[in-house]
Amino acid sequence: GKRPITLLGLGDMGTALARAWLAAGHPVTLWNRTPGRAEPLAAEGAAVAASVADAVAASDLVVTCLLDDASVLAVLADADLAGKDLVDLTTGTPGQARARAAWAEERGARFLDGGIMAVPPMIGVAGSGGYVLYSGSRPLFEEHRATLAVPAGATFVGADPGFAALHDVALLSAMTAMMAGIAHAFALVRDEDVPLKDFAPMLTGWLTAMAGYARGVAEHLESGDYTRGVTSNLAMMVRGNATLLRTAEEQRVSPELLTPFMDLMRRRLDDGHADEGTTGVVDLLAR
Ligand code: NDP
Repeated sequence: GKRPITLLGLGDMGTALARAWLAAGHPVTLWNRTPGRAEPLAAEGAAVAASVADAVAASDLVVTCLLDDASVLAVLADADLAGKDLVDLTTGTPGQARARAAWAEERGARFLDGGIMAVPPMIGVAGSGGYVLYSGSRPLFEEHRATLAVPAGATFVGADPGFAALHDVALLSAMTAMMAGIAHAFALVRDEDVPLKDFAPMLTGWLTAMAGYARGVAEHLESGDYTRGVTSNLAMMVRGNATLLRTAEEQRVSPELLTPFMDLMRRRLDDGHADEGTTGVVDLLAR
């Protein structure tokens, strides 16, 4: 039979996870601070525990999907975790994950941290492109791999329990800058007679075409040679920045999303690295 799972936390994400495991035939025991949120899932076959203690006692595999690390601690503070496999799918920092791992191990549990790279509608949908990053106990991951792969793809990124959060936050940080770029691009065109429904796929196509840039940066950092394979050099790009800024001015758009990165490009150029791309900015960011 399928492995029993206890899931603590029935927000939008926890509810989607519960539905995916129920649909796959796993016995699921649920607990949520606000009990009403478990009711629809009870009708779908889930067992609803009256307390955290009852929920944790019901399965060897205990999954948390709560607001933040503080709520995980609040919920599990008095739980008996001895012999349990704890999988924390709550988003947090690498430091929080490492501390939670040590905390769980002191209580006799194996620990795996997860970073969910998906939104709730992608959970349980084959081919949605969503996946979950995992780090911490590899034996736990291997033993429960099939169960962990039910909601979305399961990718193990290291025995350091902080690595799932590190990868998760690195990807989200890059996404944040992408969203900033999209906001600036729309600010430039939206008051003109530009059909936004045509502009949007053009923007998506361009960002997709340029996204392979990450591979070149990785090769530069690994080799230490930041000029290798550079087709657009820093001197050219910094000259181009003047056109980007002047266009923002013509279109009466604030350059505030662009200038922090452009300032770093200029500093690297002034340090004598005209033949590089933008990889040197990584060095300038190190504190
Ligand atoms: P919600 O805000 O929908 O749900 C939060 C959950 O945490 C609820 O079950 C809530 O209980 C519970 N909770 C909050 N504080 C406490 C507390 N002090 N004690 C006990 N329970 C508490 O969040 P999501 O379900 O969307 O997200 C859950 C986790 O999943 C987060 O870490 C989020 O970052 C992550 N995630 C979410 C994604 C998304 O798109 N939604 C995408 C990727 C990751 P109650 O019902 O009682 O309020």
